[in-house]
Amino acid sequence: MEKYNLEKIKSVHHWNENLFSFKCTRKNNFKFKNGEFVLLSLIDKENKIIYRAYSILSSNYDNYLEFLSIKIKNGIFTNILKNLIVGDNIYISKKPSGTLIFENLLNKGKNLWLLSTGTGLSPFLSIIKNYELYKNYSTIILIHSVNYKINLSYRYYINNIFYKNIINFNKLNFIYYPIVTKEKFINNKRITEIIKSKKIFYDTNLKDFNEFKDRIMICGNMSMLIDIKNILQSFYNFYEFSSNQMGLFATEKAFIEN
Ligand SMILES: Cc1cc2nc3c(=O)[nH]c(=O)nc-3n(C[C@H](O)[C@H](O)[C@H](O)COP(=O)(O)OP(=O)(O)OC[C@H]3O[C@@H](n4cnc5c(N)ncnc54)[C@H](O)[C@@H]3O)c2cc1C
Repeated sequence: MEKYNLEKIKSVHHWNENLFSFKCTRKNNFKFKNGEFVLLSLIDKENKIIYRAYSILSSNYDNYLEFLSIKIKNGIFTNILKNLIVGDNIYISKKPSGTLIFENLLNKGKNLWLLSTGTGLSPFLSIIKNYELYKNYSTIILIHSVNYKINLSYRYYINNIFYKNIINFNKLNFIYYPIVTKEKFINNKRITEIIKSKKIFYDTNLKDFNEFKDRIMICGNMSMLIDIKNILQSFYNFYEFSSNQMGLFATEKAFIEN
């Protein structure tokens, strides 16, 4: 386990039967960029080491690490993780990585769009707390799409604590746009639909995407990633970040589908 830091659970919050989040200690020398993920590792009943990728939800100036997790029925990892309580051990890889970092986008945007579904929200919660970023972008827009209202985790935090204490206090431009697709809600059209129909530009009072002013990050399920990527490439001529070039947009899977 020399590639991992041993940390302790500090608090656990169960949002509902599908989702929970937790905070744990953070070693002083553990560095990461907002938007990156790590491997969380646990030891199962047979003393086997199991690990899964998790995006860090806290920001790099917090003295703790925070994660949001799905609870998968019969999920090998989440069935252990969801039972952790304050004081339990968790191993966290020492080397974070990921594509959803500010440096991967061409540096001339006006608007930064963060498009997420489900637990794909996590890296973006870390990113929106990076106040330096608001110097590079005049507006940051966070879109979070889920099936049912109860899965809009952190909605209360964003609408109340984050807006009041950070956004309004520092006079920053931030737009939160939650979507619920399977029950009645103020916004219930999928992300792809609100882009195609241009509803998102009407609702946010921002102009249609163009390469000079917009930069986009996407984190969610695979089909949503593919659909948005297609729209951005074929309708807007946007190109994606790759290991040899900065991009107008960057994507990351929120989980691997079996
Ligand atoms: C780069 C990356 C970052 C990730 N970050 C997170 C995160 O921040 N929070 C998180 O909960 N998971 C995240 N995951 C998924 C996570 O690694 C595990 O898949 C999850 O913990 C379930 O593990 P499991 O062993 O219980 O089930 P697994 O056997 O790993 O998964 C079983 C099935 O459950 C579904 N599934 C897995 N994860 C999710 C999910 N998050 N949302 C919806 N369906 C899912 C998939 O269909 C998968 O095939 C991330 C994955 C990747 C690749």
